[in-house]
Amino acid sequence: MCAADKALGLLGGTFDPVHFGHLRVAIELAESLALDQVSLLPCFQPPHRQQPQAGAAERKQMLQLAVAEQSRLTVDDRELRRGGYSYTVDTLQGLRDEQGDKVPIYFAMGLDAFNGLPDWNNWQCLFELANIVVMSRPGYRADPAHPALAGRERHFTGHETAAGALYQLSVTPLNISATAIRRYRAQNRCISYLLPHSVERFIHQHRLYQ
Ligand code: ATP
Repeated sequence: MCAADKALGLLGGTFDPVHFGHLRVAIELAESLALDQVSLLPCFQPPHRQQPQAGAAERKQMLQLAVAEQSRLTVDDRELRRGGYSYTVDTLQGLRDEQGDKVPIYFAMGLDAFNGLPDWNNWQCLFELANIVVMSRPGYRADPAHPALAGRERHFTGHETAAGALYQLSVTPLNISATAIRRYRAQNRCISYLLPHSVERFIHQHRLYQ
């Protein structure tokens, strides 16, 4: 049995900066999986990629601005508070300890992140702690031989398990990346309509990504 009324959705990332790609998939995750809330979970130091350009406090402020008018989205800053390398397995263990064994937890990631999952620390343990949701992303394809798919993939029809299942979700394709936004800024190009206006204003005010 799982406690479906308390199901949690999470979207981890660097959010350097948050953009409409993140926000749209978070909303579609909430709607597709009947979640009251999805938490955006910024990492402090990502273990497998270059370090963020904006500081932790700035990335958190941009996220808070981005979700300010959307009650279904929240910011969970536990990895920023913990510091050091942000291993998802540690974060999910902390959430599981808080929530107990019965609450379904859905940890979502885009296809690009999923393709790199076999390099993550203790990635198999993620499935002991949460369900994984893999969302489509323009330019990336699912590898049918991905080691995480074997025996775990399900079709979502309701909250069945607290952890252990893998769901693939086809979301509105938005070919937006934080890399492109940082590059546009460095080239002094306009970043409007790729991210919320409040976040764009923050980037200009704080002279980020120049
Ligand atoms: P960068 O370009 O710096 O790598 P990013 O745009 O990929 O950043 P992240 O913060 O690394 O953003 O992404 C957080 C999560 O959101 C990842 O799981 C990623 O796959 C997913 N994601 C980001 N942008 C999109 C998008 N446009 N469509 C679908 N998923 C996305």
